Amino acid sequence: MKISRWSKTDTRWYLAVRCVKCESHIFFALDHGDGDEDRNSPPPEKLVLTCTLASCGLRADYTSAAIMRLQKQPALGTAPRGTVRAG
Ligand SMILES: [Zn+2]
Repeated sequence: MKISRWSKTDTRWYLAVRCVKCESHIFFALDHGDGDEDRNSPPPEKLVLTCTLASCGLRADYTSAAIMRLQKQPALGTAPRGTVRAG
């Protein structure tokens, strides 16, 4: 089995919001700005996300919520769900 040293470390930046119910991070997009201040993509018109925590699963509108730029923690091991819906 051949495993790269970096295979378990995701150094990319993600856009995320905090779940209003359980306060866990909900990753919904990959940030191509690589941590820079510049954001070349405008925020979506409507941002409806479902919490990725199985025990929570709250679906809410995060259009006006504060969007954070985060790097995934290796311990989390959660994959982003394609729950972004525009319109
Ligand atoms: Zn939640």
